[in-house]
Amino acid sequence: MKQLATPSESTELGLLKNMLEEAGIHCALRNEQTFQAFPTTPFNVELWVDDDADYPKAQELCESWFHPPSDTAGIWSCAQCGQRLRGQFDSCWKCGAKREMADKMTA
Ligand SMILES: [Zn+2]
Repeated sequence: MKQLATPSESTELGLLKNMLEEAGIHCALRNEQTFQAFPTTPFNVELWVDDDADYPKAQELCESWFHPPSDTAGIWSCAQCGQRLRGQFDSCWKCGAKREMADKMTA
């Protein structure tokens, strides 16, 4: 296992983990329970990639997550729950709705 270098923003890391899992990369959050028990305490939540072979890909995805391409044209809103999503996602991480639905709605 390898720890992914990430900013220690717990809520963002949860989303990041979902995104990685969706890309087929198994990963785990550490210290999350501590964070939930003491949400105001700045514990570092860590994101660990299970398989070292997935690490480069995970790092790349992480990079584009925290530093998205400057053009925001790809940003779309979920037709089902209204969540704003970045262009690299084909489905809503929040409710699972497909992007095509949103595109049809806004077209
Ligand atoms: Zn949604």
